Amino acid sequence: MTAYDPNNIFAKILRGEFPCHKVYEDDHVFAFLDIMPRAPGHTLVIPKAPARNILDVSSEDFAHVARGARTIARAAKVAFGANGISLHQFSEAAGGQVVFHLHMHVIPRHDGVALLPAASRKEDTAVLEANAAKLIAALKQI
Ligand code: 5GP
Repeated sequence: MTAYDPNNIFAKILRGEFPCHKVYEDDHVFAFLDIMPRAPGHTLVIPKAPARNILDVSSEDFAHVARGARTIARAAKVAFGANGISLHQFSEAAGGQVVFHLHMHVIPRHDGVALLPAASRKEDTAVLEANAAKLIAALKQI
């Protein structure tokens, strides 16, 4: 398998070299809004430890990501009045992966509302700011 590339965009976000709309962080994971959300509040949860995807991540680090995704999912239900949550994780190009630092997509869902196509539209910064603020507030309530 190809080695982890420390210059991928999410590694740069983790190092603070590239901006993002952060919503959550603990010792093991970092969560921020997807810049091209498939639904409002679409969040990415990533391990702080380097891992390319599900094929090289340690079970401990994947467990931390799963725990972080659960936290974000519960906050997203509150923040966006979601009826449901979709979790997506893509590994390797054949699996649909585009950015090669492991990430779990946490996508708030509403009854009868289809997801936008992947990477179809870059969201306005003001909208991302407002949605990050909603999630951060909801994280304090759960
Ligand atoms: P993948 O197909 O690898 O699971 O998805 C990568 C995701 O990263 C896509 O949903 C895409 O919109 C998102 N993305 C790509 N570049 C950036 C970026 O620079 N910042 C943020 N916040 N998200 C990004």
